[in-house]
Amino acid sequence: VAELGTPTRSVITTCAYCGVGCSFKAEMNGDQLVRMVPYKHGKANRGHSCVKGRFAYGYAAHQDRILKPMIRERIEDPWREVAWDEALAFAADRMRGIQERHGRRSVGVITSSRCTNEETYLVQKLTRAVFLNNNTDTCARVCHSPTGYGLGKTFGTSAGTQDFDSVEQTDVVLIIGANPTDGHPVFASRLKKRLRQGAKLIVVDPRRTDIVRSAHVEASHHLPLRPGTNVAVISAMAHVIVTEGLMDEAYIRDRCDWDEFQHYAEFIADPRHAPEATETLTGVPAAELRAAARLFATGGNGAIYYGLGVTEHSQGSTTVMAIANLAMLTGNIGRPGVGVNPLRGQNNVQGACDMGSFPHELPGYRHVKMPDVRAIFENAWGVQIDPEPGLRIPNMLDAAVEGTFKGLYCQGEDILQSDPDTHHVAAGLAAMECVIVHDLFLNETANYAHVFLPGSSFLEKDGTFTNAERRINRVRKVMAPRNGYEDWEITQMLANAMGAGWHYTHPSQIMDEIAATTPSFAGVSYERLEELGSVQWPCNEAAPTGTPLMHVDGFQSGRGHFVITEYIPTDERTGPRFPLLLTTGRILSQYNVGAQTRRTENTAWHGQDVLEIHPHDAETRGIRDGDWVRLASRAGETTLMVTLTERVSPGVVYTTFHHPATQANVVTTDFSDWATNCPEYKVTAVQVSPSNGP
Ligand code: SF4
Repeated sequence: VAELGTPTRSVITTCAYCGVGCSFKAEMNGDQLVRMVPYKHGKANRGHSCVKGRFAYGYAAHQDRILKPMIRERIEDPWREVAWDEALAFAADRMRGIQERHGRRSVGVITSSRCTNEETYLVQKLTRAVFLNNNTDTCARVCHSPTGYGLGKTFGTSAGTQDFDSVEQTDVVLIIGANPTDGHPVFASRLKKRLRQGAKLIVVDPRRTDIVRSAHVEASHHLPLRPGTNVAVISAMAHVIVTEGLMDEAYIRDRCDWDEFQHYAEFIADPRHAPEATETLTGVPAAELRAAARLFATGGNGAIYYGLGVTEHSQGSTTVMAIANLAMLTGNIGRPGVGVNPLRGQNNVQGACDMGSFPHELPGYRHVKMPDVRAIFENAWGVQIDPEPGLRIPNMLDAAVEGTFKGLYCQGEDILQSDPDTHHVAAGLAAMECVIVHDLFLNETANYAHVFLPGSSFLEKDGTFTNAERRINRVRKVMAPRNGYEDWEITQMLANAMGAGWHYTHPSQIMDEIAATTPSFAGVSYERLEELGSVQWPCNEAAPTGTPLMHVDGFQSGRGHFVITEYIPTDERTGPRFPLLLTTGRILSQYNVGAQTRRTENTAWHGQDVLEIHPHDAETRGIRDGDWVRLASRAGETTLMVTLTERVSPGVVYTTFHHPATQANVVTTDFSDWATNCPEYKVTAVQVSPSNGP
């Protein structure tokens, strides 16, 4: 700080990493960012931060930033720096030509949950109003799309139900498939504070994560399930609650569809769901599971927090619905201290989903097949909207390999590194006639691109992010965009190069359009955000200051819906060749594929992804701590260093996916959630064997 001088001004903005959505004061000396200080009035963080938000912003000024547009005829050619006009005309010509030759549905868009609400809204508008199809998807496809599906089916609203503050009134915390200490550190601190005050904790996770036992915190129950058996474990808990008469019948009669509940109760009471019947399958001792179920049902206010360990499975959507069933069964929805809370990975996963970034939904989770909904946007945009849902990311790649999908605009995503089955992603990208990458850095996907549009960092733009508790926070421009334009302007320029005639001059106008077309955002404006600091949607005439708790007076669809959640094993099976199960996650100091955090100097980083293996599994393979090993699956193989630890159970191995040299997704399968195609990153049958290193 001394080198950078004394701050002369400060700007309040929002962290661009995780779904907690911490507010910061960016302290500036002229145009130089001196430091990021956690903002004490930030409603999501109340003056706290983690190592990423506070220190890992250096990537914005990193020398790897690409600041000029570039084009090339073929991916074998060298990049050529050009003016913005030339790059946009080149991109527009190619996309237009593809549509003329192969039809309007032969191109599409992938946007990022790292972008603002206004940017993602414009990208889906570009797809629907300029490309005239619904081939728009987002990286939420590979993380929380099952949340959207599962909570929509049960509660009628695709979002978490509870605000962070109300954890202070929770008596029993149930964490399933989430590691908040590493993934959502500031919220984890609030959670641990509540646990130190006496709230009970149940953790369902194949790995003994930090929160199972940390300073003055010890889980009452850790259920170390076999990866892939979430549904069986949650159903066994529900079986205990129903067969022992521990459900909240008054709540169910008052709030839920009673006929559906009776059907569900009959299903779940079947002895095949009993903990004793599923013990061998799940690996969770029946007595422990019964005790956990009784605690959750009778321990007072119960709140469920879950993460990608729930969603990234072939039964991700089923698991989300099983969790919703469990909450309704115990009356734990709609009052302070209770709820179902997806811990959103990226800063704006919630917002990207809210903004209609899915190929079947317009903003506000309304299906494109609904004529009255299409009419709202057709009137606002002056175009006819395609009534057919578009392609999801994996469908785009499949269609590219098959030769029917030819052009992609990829904003803020490195799908080659982040999506499963890397070889298939590469084949899809290589088969396209035009790939436009819009990003801060020449990422791995850009190896297959014909156009590179340099993006702006969160410090260089205005807009909003929506965090895991549906809180819409302002992102404020701290400095001028180093690349010349904010990302929403670049999307607008691309649209206009294709003849759109858009003329937004500030993101606040885009938010006004969102409010005019989307009922849950009807009361949101930049003026309202300035006045209140932030606001949780729904924010409209009925709730002008927003909605901290959902479903207080009933569910959106009138009644909560119990759904039958049959356990169906994944097709990914262990066997003699691949006897171990690999699951993945992230560490506190790094973020996803590391594009940002690896380009900062202030975060501790061991420089590589490491494979955790149980000492017994290591010994039988002649592997010692610190050895290099070959990690192989049916999809591919990579090389990693191992650490021996009892955090993982025998038969289970674990790694992170932060470093491009590891390419952990080379080994992950192409199985995916039956409802949403969310990849099954969390279960891969693998073999581990000694190696001499990379
Ligand atoms: Fe940023 Fe999440 Fe850390 Fe808060 S907890 S500072 S939002 S990474």
